[in-house]
Amino acid sequence: MTVATLSEVLQKAKKDKYAVAGLVVLGWEDARCYAEVAEDLNLPVILQAGPGCRANTPVPILGKMFRYLADQSSCPVVCHLDHGYTKEECMEGIDSGFTSIMFDGSKLSLNENIEKTHEIAELAHKTNISVEGEIGFVGYNEGAESQNTDPIQAKQFAELSGCDAMAISAGNIHLQTNTSSSIDLDVIEQIEKLTDVPLVLHGSSGIDYPLRRSIANNTNVCKFNIGTELRKTFGDTLREEITNNPSIYDRIQLIKSTLPKLKETTKKVLENISQFSH
Ligand SMILES: [Zn+2]
Repeated sequence: MTVATLSEVLQKAKKDKYAVAGLVVLGWEDARCYAEVAEDLNLPVILQAGPGCRANTPVPILGKMFRYLADQSSCPVVCHLDHGYTKEECMEGIDSGFTSIMFDGSKLSLNENIEKTHEIAELAHKTNISVEGEIGFVGYNEGAESQNTDPIQAKQFAELSGCDAMAISAGNIHLQTNTSSSIDLDVIEQIEKLTDVPLVLHGSSGIDYPLRRSIANNTNVCKFNIGTELRKTFGDTLREEITNNPSIYDRIQLIKSTLPKLKETTKKVLENISQFSH
């Protein structure tokens, strides 16, 4: 049984200069696939349930599912609730077996964001659950625009919110279907000078592999969130399988046929960022 908190895996990653992948889960098959690949590679992994996943499957079920997978694994598995927007959402995660909660107050004023993140961190820490906060705003491809993190605000946020990890905005964008994002390394460097809280990049599907690797090995960015890259592998493979096998109607069989490719992508993602630099 190796359920872990976000703080445990990120502090270790920061010390040894690698990063841990926060993999976006949409259901049982992908969650199991990620946990199996992490086990095969003997690497830590963060399974994360975002708003889309939670709209489809109730949080208590996701909590049980993630904890079941963590229990089967001999590598650290973090059970993470991604983008909780209210205290109620975060509390439901805390009560459902998640070991890490992201409170996303990035649309609030700095003071409100600090205050609310702090309130959730206090509640979560009572039962040794980690909290990720966000400062600055990570935008969405063809949606809301990003606002780069201000390093001074990041320092205040890190000091006052009590968060265990801090998601920042430095050119990363959610839902990118290509790897064209250019990351502002100066922003990361300035933030690192002011705080040593482990940093998180959401929207990392948009960052190319050599850059992810370099950031993982040379900065305090210890968590890369990857969703679109995995969803693309799943969607493209499923489409192909459905087209090539018009007489298969069974959902389990169809999803199963996507798993070898999904495993391949997961393996590439994990090996790229979680290897030691030395
Ligand atoms: Zn995100």
